[in-house]
Amino acid sequence: MQKDLNIFIELAEQLLLEEQKQPVAKHIPTSKLYNSLDLSLNDEGQVEDALIENLKGIIKSTPKTASKSFFNQLFGGRIGKATLGDLLAVMLNNSMYTYKVAGPQVGIEKQVLKNICKLAGYPTKSDGTFAPGGSMSNMMALIMARDAKNKDVRAKGLSEKMILYTSAESHYSIAKNAALTGIGREQVRLVNTNEKGEMLACHLEALVKEDLNNNYLPFFVNATAGTTVLGAFDDIEAISKICKSNNLWLHVDGAYCGSVIFSNTYKHLVKGLEHSDSFSVNAHKMLGTPLSCSIIVTKHPEQLHHSFSNEADYLYQTDDDDFNLGKTSLQCGRRNDALKIWTLWKSVGTNGLEKIVDKQFEMAQVARDYIKNNKDYKLYSFDDSISVCFNYKDIDPKELCTALYEDAQLMVGFGSYKNEQFVRMVTINSVLEKEDISAFFKTLEAYVDEKMLKISTT
Ligand SMILES: *Cc1c(COP(=O)(O)O)cnc(C)c1O
Repeated sequence: MQKDLNIFIELAEQLLLEEQKQPVAKHIPTSKLYNSLDLSLNDEGQVEDALIENLKGIIKSTPKTASKSFFNQLFGGRIGKATLGDLLAVMLNNSMYTYKVAGPQVGIEKQVLKNICKLAGYPTKSDGTFAPGGSMSNMMALIMARDAKNKDVRAKGLSEKMILYTSAESHYSIAKNAALTGIGREQVRLVNTNEKGEMLACHLEALVKEDLNNNYLPFFVNATAGTTVLGAFDDIEAISKICKSNNLWLHVDGAYCGSVIFSNTYKHLVKGLEHSDSFSVNAHKMLGTPLSCSIIVTKHPEQLHHSFSNEADYLYQTDDDDFNLGKTSLQCGRRNDALKIWTLWKSVGTNGLEKIVDKQFEMAQVARDYIKNNKDYKLYSFDDSISVCFNYKDIDPKELCTALYEDAQLMVGFGSYKNEQFVRMVTINSVLEKEDISAFFKTLEAYVDEKMLKISTT
């Protein structure tokens, strides 16, 4: 193992150099992938030196999500202490289902959950778990809501139309999870949004009424804290009132921006969160931990247990149920996703996490100011969002983003809202500085002016 650790350090150092030298990896067309790199698996193994060279080539060509030219997704960058925690989790290789197998790692996970519950404004008896991503956190919430509303469903399956509500701007996992859990996509009501992409509570109320009139069974509302395209925050307080009067489970999908709970400046964006029944947040998005680190907490720990526990004599042989986390998780064997967020949190404190969150809003403001002060740009997104959506000189955003990627200039994606398409630049990488934001725009402008506008006029 010592030898492989040395190899790891050599390769990791090469990666750090590559990120500086070639922040956007050279694009390999899919049709040429297997000719460009040796990805084959054969009867005979590759000898050590050749394997190392091969891995170096693969590293060189792999997209650099931690570089300062990566604005493409709702994650990015690399925070050292979080990465350290995750590397340790790999070395330790525990499975989180029992205290016997994971020991203090269970305590670490419980501690993170406890603190998240507190920041969400939930009572002390609340609980949660780590799911394999935000989509699965949302599914766990949906399952708890389904089981809470319909006591027979776990044994007998669905026998009536159960209706859920989510905004038209919410993440696709809500509808997908409706299909996966037997609720059915047709039972998903898409609530209209205002011009900022926030759910219209009055439309929600009207839809619930209509379904009740039709003798359907409304049971679940998903509010989003940071919609995937515009980064909008639904009005949790207004929505929670409708949920309360109709006895509906309210889940807050904070996969993208739920981490505002760490910020005294921005936690007002999730005002009313304490009235929700469950809340999920991806630490691998705003908190910058390695993928994946998704947390779901609920005020109803008994429902979490009821929906996800199973007896298994071969597994649960020692210790209190409270410390056998397999009784409240989606999976059986489960990797340790808690250590990375714990290591980061322990090293910088809650105040440090607040700084990480605030920095992203600050950088988004820098980007918006740049756009507003330059008449070649049009801005589509709003304040209090770390998704900065714009167009430059009316260039088709899809063409622009694809060209920037294929010519290894910048990694940035595009999105759309109500028939408008635009570039979506995400300032989620917490090591970005003002200069990096300027560099982004300068690179984009130089590229458009030299390559795209020239091509289109010749
Ligand atoms: C990213 C995202 C998800 C999905 O999270 P994964 O970890 O990618 O599964 C869900 N909801 C919202 C709002 C998101 O932005």
